[in-house]
Amino acid sequence: MSRIKIFDTTLRDGEQSPGVNLNKLEKLEIAKQLERLGVDIMEAGFPASSEGDFEAVKLIADTIKDTSVTGLSRTVKSDIDTAWEALKGAAEPRLHLFLATSPIHMEYKLKMTPEQVVEQSVNMVSYARKRFPQVEWSAEDATRSDWDFLAKIIEKVINAGATVINLPDTTGYTTPAKYGKMFRYMRETVPNIHKVDLSCHCHNDLGMAVANSISAVENGVTQVEGTINGIGERAGNVALEEVAIALKIRSDFYPYETSLKLNEIKRSSDLISKLTGMHVQANKAVIGRNAYAHESGIHQDGVLKNPETYEIITPELVGVSSNTLFLGKHSGRHAFKDKVKEFGIELTDEQIKEAFKHFKKLTDHKKEVTDDDIYTIVMEIKTDAEGVNKYQLETFQVHYGSTDIPTATVSLKTPEGESVQTACTGKGSVEALYNTLSSLVSEELKLLDYHINSVGGGKDALAESHVQLSVNGEAVNGRGTAQDVIEASANAYLNAVNRYMIKQQSKKLAETVN
Ligand SMILES: [Zn+2]
Repeated sequence: MSRIKIFDTTLRDGEQSPGVNLNKLEKLEIAKQLERLGVDIMEAGFPASSEGDFEAVKLIADTIKDTSVTGLSRTVKSDIDTAWEALKGAAEPRLHLFLATSPIHMEYKLKMTPEQVVEQSVNMVSYARKRFPQVEWSAEDATRSDWDFLAKIIEKVINAGATVINLPDTTGYTTPAKYGKMFRYMRETVPNIHKVDLSCHCHNDLGMAVANSISAVENGVTQVEGTINGIGERAGNVALEEVAIALKIRSDFYPYETSLKLNEIKRSSDLISKLTGMHVQANKAVIGRNAYAHESGIHQDGVLKNPETYEIITPELVGVSSNTLFLGKHSGRHAFKDKVKEFGIELTDEQIKEAFKHFKKLTDHKKEVTDDDIYTIVMEIKTDAEGVNKYQLETFQVHYGSTDIPTATVSLKTPEGESVQTACTGKGSVEALYNTLSSLVSEELKLLDYHINSVGGGKDALAESHVQLSVNGEAVNGRGTAQDVIEASANAYLNAVNRYMIKQQSKKLAETVN
């Protein structure tokens, strides 16, 4: 079996999904989970793109020890210098340089000749190698580039010190046969290619990202780039869990293995879905809610007699466990602490105290508190941005009846510390609530998307709400949980507003620093 390296870009390419904006602490929790999942390399962000990205990459590079951490960089010295400042504390600092090589990108976007593209790539790879032990060079839009030109530039950047060559299908345009053939051609044509890892990076615009990645592997690629749940620009990146499970389940056919701890897949998928607000479709391969549900009578009967009749992947393989009953009203702090430890999440004494308080409050209403509930509570606490001025919900009341006009009364604490109240009506209870909140917030708000779902099953389940708001014209996601759906909805709405405020505050901070 040959080893295929897994390069996760959930925090960079994945975070470029429309409306997704993770705070530094959320990124760190995802990074820790990716480390537990066992990815070989994680791309933590694009340090030169913003102060916020720089800080997040630095925090992750300084914290993560078992995974190589990388950051994206344009082929310019200032980007490379900034990336080094963010990444130098990493166990294995790695730089990801990119420059486009397709005629359309070189002519219209870069306004550079092919010769200039070669020169700049070579110069910047050797500049980066003075500090970074590992430098990946990506030919952006490789699948629409001329193969002979690609072969020439690859040879030169390898001589300049590149340790990984990535040929991305940036636009999701390629086909499995063509993509595989391109890698085979490079392996046969570029004389020094054996010195580096060859990497694929696929987008899913035509729904072929997994097939394209597997074809690349069959043709000599030793690194696969992608994201968990396949999130990313447009139709997303290749879903890494699908690639890993396909290689595992069909190991009779594919002689390749990855380092992933497959039973951490479900937890990784859940966390990323929770924090990004990007839901996993029920019928998604490997990780969808229905992926292990057998509906038709014939199938159910078969699975009862022998699961292998219709089940090629066991739920246990990817860490899907039936949501077993866990703690209740009489569970003590010790049992709670042990549970949190089981998740591999570290909490300070202060955070444990707060989480335990939330847990106790939940047990007043909920008889059986599940792992998912506890995980949700703990994550809320771990990812709450501290030290920033935010809107806080003080009290609220919603009046709803089939014959009355829905009315909401809300009391809010503003970022300036002032307490404000008002009441508004709406056509439904959530609308009344959101109208009221919106009239108390000075920003211009528009609701773009709204979801409510339950954490696990049961009529007393925790409610989790995700919203997307336009705040002063900018799309921002928010999430909130509570025992009650209306309260979860209020929390999600304010969470989106607060994320916008935090972003503005860090922008202002960056301006004063500069
Ligand atoms: Zn990409």
